Amino acid sequence: MKKIVVAGGGGFIGGFLVADLKQKGYLIRSVDYKPLKEWHQVLEGVENLVLDLRDRGACEKAVQGCEEVYNLAADMGGMGFIETHKAECMLSVLINTHLLMAAKEAKISRFFYSSSACVYAAQKQFRPDLTALTEEDAYPAMPEDGYGWEKLFSERMCRHFTEDFGLITRVARYHNVYGPLGTFEGGREKAPAAICRKIVQAKLSGKHEIEIWGDGEQSRSFQYIDDCVMGTQKIMNSDSVTMPINLGSSELVTINQLVDIVERIAGIKVKRAYKLDAPKGVRGRNSDNTLIQKLLGWEPTTPLKNGLEKTYSWVYDQMKNR
Ligand code: NAD
Repeated sequence: MKKIVVAGGGGFIGGFLVADLKQKGYLIRSVDYKPLKEWHQVLEGVENLVLDLRDRGACEKAVQGCEEVYNLAADMGGMGFIETHKAECMLSVLINTHLLMAAKEAKISRFFYSSSACVYAAQKQFRPDLTALTEEDAYPAMPEDGYGWEKLFSERMCRHFTEDFGLITRVARYHNVYGPLGTFEGGREKAPAAICRKIVQAKLSGKHEIEIWGDGEQSRSFQYIDDCVMGTQKIMNSDSVTMPINLGSSELVTINQLVDIVERIAGIKVKRAYKLDAPKGVRGRNSDNTLIQKLLGWEPTTPLKNGLEKTYSWVYDQMKNR
């Protein structure tokens, strides 16, 4: 049975990917630099290693004896984090660079890199109602400062490792991923988890007022974790996806509409206090799924309402049980 390494396996998406690959019967090595007690999921029957993958030697240890690499390791978070930690985000370039070098030396057969919709050029995202982003919209380049530049550079590095050294690489541009077991507080959380937390807090405290970053009219699409895990493996195993490809939902909502859905799930109405100077990111972003449909005959399908029900219920349990 193939042995697969998941870098960033202690993180949100990595934890679900490890669980799914393990359940399919693969031998898994999961690597992260956080202490085990901070991992989102620690699974039995998986080789769990704590290594800092910015270090070349650690990358060599991580890939030793494995056939495939999924690189999901990065220092990242929601807008509140990436707008204020640009250098830290860019330092993740060391992880992907050293992992690629180690993978080439170890003759790894396939290498997956988790890129982001933050690679897309700012000028294509200045209105909430713009058309969805296609893969070509990353160039001419003007990605999200810090985090997005690192992702775009690392995508390019994958491409050249394929062209120059023959290492098969696959790159997915994830659009916002959410679900249970995700980060919902502490500064790295993203909009769906943050809105769930604020509405749970309002419900538990009886103070029905929440703060919203921006005017609430910025638009996004949100992809449920199960779709992300499935799409990641489809892209990795595909022979036709040879260039970076969108992996995201095309169900576009504004942040106000996201709040409407969570309010309905919670069964309360909240007063919205708009914090206009908070980090907001681009004005509008959606995933054009024409290419993934063409190449894989598939795209993320979980309706936002269904995914949010599960996420809200998990966040509610975490906060209620404190
Ligand atoms: P996450 O922060 O939960 O997981 C990333 C993991 O990488 C963390 O557990 C972290 O400890 C680990 N890591 C960071 N630096 C490391 C190092 N030097 N050595 C070893 N491990 C290290 O984030 P996630 O949401 O699971 O995201 C996974 C990947 O997907 C990341 O590359 C991220 O940039 C990308 N992505 C995520 C989203 C999203 O909405 N969650 C969107 C676009 C792209």
